[in-house]
Amino acid sequence: MQDCIFCKIANHTLPSNPVFENDKVIAFYDLNPQAPVHILVIPKIHCPSLIDVSDNNIMKDLFDAVQTIVKEQNISDFRTVINTGKSSGQTVFHLHIHILAGRNLLWPPG
Ligand code: 5GP
Ligand code: ZN
Repeated sequence: MQDCIFCKIANHTLPSNPVFENDKVIAFYDLNPQAPVHILVIPKIHCPSLIDVSDNNIMKDLFDAVQTIVKEQNISDFRTVINTGKSSGQTVFHLHIHILAGRNLLWPPG
């Protein structure tokens, strides 16, 4: 989608230093990390948010990538977050999973 920053990262119009990539998914470090490890995992196809997912293969591809990334990076303890909608904190309307790790994470989140 034109004007979507994550679509531009997915098609390499914007550089991102990917930590994982296959034909369906790309993962890269968050620009404004909230933990020592903060990775975003996105589908290459544009989908605004979790509520818009109509093909559950997308979620399988994303969580398969999460597993691969944490195994590759020897991360045993981590949090995955999917913000959905403005009041949840979603700021980029292209579906993404946050992987947060490397510090004690508080619960409940703010
Ligand atoms: P959300 O708040 O929508 O759940 O998460 C969006 C995330 O994308 C934020 O953590 C923000 O720091 C990150 N972000 C926004 N723009 C860019 C960018 O251009 N590059 C990277 N690597 N991360 C971005
Ligand atoms: Zn997009």
